[in-house]
Amino acid sequence: MEESKKDKLKIGIYELTGCAGDSLLILDCEKELIDIFKASDIQSFLMAKSDNIDAELDVAFVEGSVSTEKEEKEILNIRKRAKAVVAIGICACFGGIQAAFLNKKDWEENLKKVYGDVKIKHTRPIQSKPIDAYIKVDYYLPGCPIDREQFLSTFNRILRGNPPELYRFPVCVECKWNENDCLINKDIPCLGPVTRAGCGSICINHNLPCVGCWGPVEEANLASEFQLLREKGFDYDFIKKKMANFSGTGMADFLGKLKVEKK
Ligand code: SF4
Ligand code: SF4
Repeated sequence: MEESKKDKLKIGIYELTGCAGDSLLILDCEKELIDIFKASDIQSFLMAKSDNIDAELDVAFVEGSVSTEKEEKEILNIRKRAKAVVAIGICACFGGIQAAFLNKKDWEENLKKVYGDVKIKHTRPIQSKPIDAYIKVDYYLPGCPIDREQFLSTFNRILRGNPPELYRFPVCVECKWNENDCLINKDIPCLGPVTRAGCGSICINHNLPCVGCWGPVEEANLASEFQLLREKGFDYDFIKKKMANFSGTGMADFLGKLKVEKK
């Protein structure tokens, strides 16, 4: 017997600042999309529905970082309405590229470089931050974009009241499963040792180094990665920039301390 609408979990899927790649990936679950809509009560999904409702929710999936005053209000409003919030994608989880350097001076200088003195009327840009800088986040699903199988598994588990399960090991493990030669041994700077697995080491499979787009894995040994790349002859600022690029708040503490140690 099919569940009635009132028995289904009320879901909202939201986009803040980012490339919308995670929402697009959900939309791209073509075979499963009808099942997703049948199994839950999707109240809001801008990319897929025109009748979006700002209602009470069981679960809100949020992609993108908070980069404007309007988005700050939006994320506070989503949190108020949702029993659980899931951050999806690197921007929501760690801030992503737009939060690469959390130093206020850099942010303001960069904004000026790109937009000059243009007055942005509909909202005021603010320093870009992950959503947990503003609200409590219940679950994180990183990726750039998120992985389709992990999203479907997370969605399924949440519908059944279970927390998502993420890989707790780095990209290097997947890289070995795929029998790649290690790029670091060829003096190519790779962030696989400190990056959470889940992408299937797709870049290394194509002979490109990992740039850390899934964010840091738990207990990542950032000091050891930094030292390893230094021993390979890479410049201090190059490594720092590389590690900061995608990780936003994920490596900020470590990189912040390095600044002091450098002197
Ligand atoms: S190539 Fe990168 S991901 Fe693969 S084993 Fe070496 S460091 Fe790890
Ligand atoms: S290998 Fe690294 S950069 Fe490439 S998709 Fe995976 S996490 Fe992202």
